[in-house]
Amino acid sequence: MNEVINTYIPIVNTFLCNGCGDCARSCPVDKMPRNPEKTILKVINGMVNILRPELCEGCGLCVESCPQSAIKIVLKE
Ligand code: SF4
Ligand code: SF4
Repeated sequence: MNEVINTYIPIVNTFLCNGCGDCARSCPVDKMPRNPEKTILKVINGMVNILRPELCEGCGLCVESCPQSAIKIVLKE
């Protein structure tokens, strides 16, 4: 089976992010089944960190959930 190469990655504006975690809670990638090794977004020291950008499926749920408009999805170059 061919490996799936995702074409989107999340980018966070660190000046706008307030660390609320809404984006991390909205991301479906690590939810079913719960697997911490597949966590893309995680709040660390009051700011969201992008741990595994290569796993992003480009669903846009994190973008919709962010009250600060601090996260966006871009095409991987
Ligand atoms: S676009 Fe979807 S898969 Fe990618 S980080 Fe945001 S919520 Fe997760
Ligand atoms: S939802 Fe927005 S403000 Fe909240 S942690 Fe994520 S990027 Fe930061």
